[in-house]
Amino acid sequence: MDLYEYQARDLFEAHGVPVLRGITATTPAEARAAAEQLGTPVVVVKAQVKTGGRGKAGGVKIAKSPDEAAARAEEILGMDIKGHTVRTVMIAEGADIAEEYYFSLLLDRANRQYLAMCSKEGGMDIEQLAVERPDALARIPVDPNVGIDQAKADEIVAAAGFAEADRAEIARVLQLLGTVYGAEDTTLVEVNPLVKTGDGKIIALDGKVTLDDNAAFRHPDHAALADKSAEDPLEAAAKAKDLNYVKLDGAVGIIGNGAGLVMSTLDVVAYAGEEFTAKPKPANFLDIGGGANAEVMASGLEIILGDQQVKSVFVNVFGGITACDEVANGIVQAFQLLESRGEAVTKPLVVRLDGNNAELGRSILTEAKLPGLEQVDTMDGAARRAAELAAS
Ligand code: GDP
Ligand code: MN
Repeated sequence: MDLYEYQARDLFEAHGVPVLRGITATTPAEARAAAEQLGTPVVVVKAQVKTGGRGKAGGVKIAKSPDEAAARAEEILGMDIKGHTVRTVMIAEGADIAEEYYFSLLLDRANRQYLAMCSKEGGMDIEQLAVERPDALARIPVDPNVGIDQAKADEIVAAAGFAEADRAEIARVLQLLGTVYGAEDTTLVEVNPLVKTGDGKIIALDGKVTLDDNAAFRHPDHAALADKSAEDPLEAAAKAKDLNYVKLDGAVGIIGNGAGLVMSTLDVVAYAGEEFTAKPKPANFLDIGGGANAEVMASGLEIILGDQQVKSVFVNVFGGITACDEVANGIVQAFQLLESRGEAVTKPLVVRLDGNNAELGRSILTEAKLPGLEQVDTMDGAARRAAELAAS
């Protein structure tokens, strides 16, 4: 999960990284109040969107009074930055910038280590710098078992070529950023710019942090950082039920067991859909996993049928540890469960059962005579039928 700048700022502050005060606002009036509260002669109004290049897009503006802060917020709120609508701004204390540096620490999966990148030429054109003058961007491997200790920090600041007089303080801040990286279980901490102010302070003026979702269980407090408003409501409902669901844009709902099978089901359905003028596509990814019982099947069907775009559903199961007869019973019970909840299945369902106990599973479904349910024995055939039903 990527964090907003203001959330990264808060995490930085919690670990002692020097940052400037910032207050979020969602209206110009709140922006004015925030500027008054900060009380500094200059404030910066910053768009809070999860994408870079806000400065160049006009999403970072200086204001010299609370009224100006309100006016700049009025301009920035509602702005579209690379497809992200600005709903929140952060009003931050203005910094007297003498120099802009760049620092990032990220997960280098291929080499099973962390990678620190640092440059004394930070600011808005770091991507260009990395391409045109790669030598100006120091790249230092970091041992995940050690992190950024004093020796590593010294190595980084030396490699980046900072002036002797600035090295100690920058090295101190880099160690704190390394602590944020490790203690919060992140996969990215980027600060651009890390600045030196006119009076010689080193401050993280921007922050980009990616939390490692696989470590979420270790950080109950991170759940509060999730962006509920930006989340798809179906995905949120699926998450609440612990389902592995991703909303897509098509009309054929997909349920399968095993991520690999579901991925190939998406491909086969998309291919089958090409045959029809409406060109139906998969509506979602949903892997109900190996031990799919009736409850899980019901939850999955409920989420998929709750998608207004869905016109047909393709249940594609290859029986393994959970045999096809259990899956078939799960489907039957899911129909009953949904009906008892007043959400009876009204959209056509195509089921393909194969693998362990396929024959038994098929006969269970045949005998159950569920409304709108058809069985097709091959994956291609079932995909084609589901696409046809969605196209008609
Ligand atoms: P980004 O463009 O999305 O990376 O947004 P940043 O937060 O990095 O801001 C872009 C640029 O705005 C920075 O590189 C700075 O040059 C400038 N900027 C940001 N905050 C301040 C500030 O407090 N004072 C001044 N003078 N400039 C700032
Ligand atoms: Mn930046």
